[in-house]
Amino acid sequence: MSLWEGFGLTPIINAYGTNTRLSGGPLAPEVAAAMVEASRASVDILDLQAAACREIARATGAEAGIATAGASAALLLGTAAILARLDAAAMDRLPRTEAEFLIARSQRNMYDRAVEVAGARLVEVGIPDRVAGAGVRDATAAEFAAAITPATRGILWVAQPHSEPPLPELVEMARAHGLPVLVDAAAQLPPAANLRRFITEGADLVAFSGGKAIGGPQASGILAGRADLVASALMQMLDLDLPAAQFRPPVEFAAARQLSHLPRHGIGRSCKVGREEVAGLLVALRRFTRDTAADRAARWSARLDAVQAGLPAALTTSRILAGEVPMLALHLPDADAARALEARLRQGHPAAHLNPSRIRDGLLLINPIALADADAPRLATLVTEALA
Ligand SMILES: *Cc1c(COP(=O)(O)O)cnc(C)c1O
Repeated sequence: MSLWEGFGLTPIINAYGTNTRLSGGPLAPEVAAAMVEASRASVDILDLQAAACREIARATGAEAGIATAGASAALLLGTAAILARLDAAAMDRLPRTEAEFLIARSQRNMYDRAVEVAGARLVEVGIPDRVAGAGVRDATAAEFAAAITPATRGILWVAQPHSEPPLPELVEMARAHGLPVLVDAAAQLPPAANLRRFITEGADLVAFSGGKAIGGPQASGILAGRADLVASALMQMLDLDLPAAQFRPPVEFAAARQLSHLPRHGIGRSCKVGREEVAGLLVALRRFTRDTAADRAARWSARLDAVQAGLPAALTTSRILAGEVPMLALHLPDADAARALEARLRQGHPAAHLNPSRIRDGLLLINPIALADADAPRLATLVTEALA
């Protein structure tokens, strides 16, 4: 009996993706082994974050970085850093502020709440005209400049292949007004080049998920960027229950030496990251940066090949690319047939979750990212049985 079945749970074959709701995908053996090894021995968490800083700086080109409990935690900590900088009293006051962050209205999403949790109110800029049909305007750097008030303390920019305004234009405007730009790049990997891209384009801080394509544990993420802001973010997550004289920031977080005194447990204490997650994230990050796009594509395609080999010949399939990720599309006669098959698989034991993003077109997608190798042939059997 599996661990999950021992707790009365239905095991899941995950062909949907790295979704938090489905607990993500399997960890690579070297990542899981790192977490088990980390579980065996204590370590100074500040020194561990200094090691994370070195790894993240190497992978992203940023001055500094820390491991967080996810991209959402990184957004919260990044906002807290921008709001409080290296002012211990300001850290202790969060989330009570009158501060505002600007965001393009088209980029509002359910994760931007992390910015408000840290204490900034979001102010929307621009009116995207896509729904009106013109589709030519979104938010411009000039509109951002016009929205700045004395309360404006930063800008949140959510990275997507066609986010407006382009980051370099926004950064140029923001720098002229002394405003930091925080980038939500949680799900922008692959391509691996995006690890460096937003830093190169001038972002002050960038948040990535560790539990998506990087392949780290679900509750892991990265905050990378300016050394002073990263040090501030870390100070607002650390357990600082120690005599001030014993607190010696390592060189990676030397900016923390500017603090007049040690702050209390910061606003980030509610999203602390554990040593097992940090270890898993760092090993996954090394693996992600070591592998080429071709390595990943080969791994993913092999899983799809294993599914396809077990499907009935009468079922039409095709391969589609979502960025660098190949997907296997099952072609059903219509949307209702696709919905019926999706529901039957989802309600089975084990439950198989297929990606429904094209269900209105009668397509069910098999996303290989979070699919265990051993589950590929089992999934084909379940689909075959459900269709019979
Ligand atoms: C997934 C996601 C997040 C949250 O990432 P976690 O690592 O799960 O906290 C934030 N923003 C965007 C755009 C995302 O896709």
